[in-house]
Amino acid sequence: MRRPVYLDNHATTAVDPLVLEAMLPYFTGEFGNAASVGHIYGWKAEAAVEQARCEVADLIGAKPNEIIFTSGATESNNTALKGLVCNSKKSDIITSSIEHSSIIDTGNALKGLGRQVTFIKPDEKGIISPESLKKTLDKTTVLVSLMFANNEIGTINDIATLAQITHEHEALFHCDIVQAVGKFPINVHKQNIDLASLSAHKIYGPKGVGALFVKRNLQSQVHPLLHGGKHEQGIRSGTLNVPGIVGFGAACTILKKVMVTENNRILHLRDRLLNLLTKALPNIQVNGCLKRRLSGNLNISFNNVDGEELFIATQPALAISRGSACATSSAKISHVLNSLNISNSLAQATFRIGIGRFNTVDEIDFAARIIIEETLRLMV
Ligand code: PMP
Repeated sequence: MRRPVYLDNHATTAVDPLVLEAMLPYFTGEFGNAASVGHIYGWKAEAAVEQARCEVADLIGAKPNEIIFTSGATESNNTALKGLVCNSKKSDIITSSIEHSSIIDTGNALKGLGRQVTFIKPDEKGIISPESLKKTLDKTTVLVSLMFANNEIGTINDIATLAQITHEHEALFHCDIVQAVGKFPINVHKQNIDLASLSAHKIYGPKGVGALFVKRNLQSQVHPLLHGGKHEQGIRSGTLNVPGIVGFGAACTILKKVMVTENNRILHLRDRLLNLLTKALPNIQVNGCLKRRLSGNLNISFNNVDGEELFIATQPALAISRGSACATSSAKISHVLNSLNISNSLAQATFRIGIGRFNTVDEIDFAARIIIEETLRLMV
């Protein structure tokens, strides 16, 4: 049986074969613990980790000693929020209602512990306006956490401006850059970002590895979630995942080389798909601002169709998502679509499509044909 065409690259991406090749030696011959200082096994592992640290730092304009390796962006987001609030006299956090669940749920957990956490709503296009942040900030705010690009509707915030406003109020700015890495030129220092979360598996690297960028002068303010051997500047104890980190570094280096051409190609595929669907279907609407959006993202609602039926009908042919991957397992209405005031029934009939490095024109044409055929068949 032919496997469905994979169009869910916001959920995860396939490991690039070149990334796998870079990782393989670190599972076998070079298996040392990067913290073993007494022999060549440890030295080689440490050297590989330090090279990867430089590669990750280089992609986002950070210094190598500002990169803390973690198990992924969920951990990075938790560390940023809990780690900073823990040590600070000021305790209020501002974030948004369209963040990833690892920010929203962490915010809610801190709320449960008595902190004040405010969730700003986006405008109708899915963008956080500088004005709404200005209105919410005050002297008690310790941290603002806003994402660069949304993982469901792909919309892009003006991060440099939001961060600058935050600094004018003497608070720190954390940014979840998971979906934006490799899609936009990111320079954490130029964009005024104090802390940033990254994940390898969204950029053709392995799962279970990520990083938290923390500006050098702020590192002593971040209380660790995990105590132990004081790895990673004491911010994240635990034996390093050497093959994973090597893969993360390799993924960043590949991106640095291919980013511009890759995003142009993906944008072309995205526009091709949207044109085909728009020409054939009278009942679709694109959620979120189309102009300020990730190149590979489409988030489309189908009016006058039962969303469940449409999803099941397309499922044998296409691997796409109905909301965020994390939300679909619990089958709840996407909190992002909810924030855009999209009705529950329309949210049920919404597809998130994520086009990536390994998609082809043929796959896009095939996806368009399946979606058009099934929508026309099921439209009431
Ligand atoms: N933030 C965003 C925007 C994401 O899309 C994801 C992954 N869905 C995460 C954080 C969590 O990343 P990880 O899977 O590495 O924990």
